[in-house]
Amino acid sequence: MHSSTRVGQGYDVHAFDVGDHVVLGGETIPHTQGIKAHSDGDVLLHAVCDALLGAMALGDIGMHFPDTDSKWRGADSRVFLRHLKQLLIKNQYRVLNIDTTVLADAPRLGQYRERMRTNIAADLNINLDQINIKATTSEGLGFIGKREGLACHAIALIEKV
Ligand code: MG
Repeated sequence: MHSSTRVGQGYDVHAFDVGDHVVLGGETIPHTQGIKAHSDGDVLLHAVCDALLGAMALGDIGMHFPDTDSKWRGADSRVFLRHLKQLLIKNQYRVLNIDTTVLADAPRLGQYRERMRTNIAADLNINLDQINIKATTSEGLGFIGKREGLACHAIALIEKV
């Protein structure tokens, strides 16, 4: 029998810049640095969007929301995520689950994790137990460890309705 489940993977990186906060999972988190980005630079939401696009074989986030388009300057990435919900509906898919790993040596994310899950669940119209957010540091190694930026991996499983 032909399986109707599909998996997709996403990865995103943004560099730190001068500033006093980062946006992650739709939450504004105070920090000693900001994010260099065309949009709000939300690596968690960007990785989730790419995982969902990958699962649907619909390209990547840069094709759907090009950074050459001034429409997306400073964009709230939750707009991207809500657009993904519409694409899932249009293509007759539903989300089974999404798992993510945020790589950041700073800021600490623990106290924001549940609100970030709540934001993603609300935007995709899924339950909280369908979205998981893990966080890890890089033990001082590489660009994450040197606090030059942060990154996120995501994987999504969807099925045809
Ligand atoms: Mg990005």
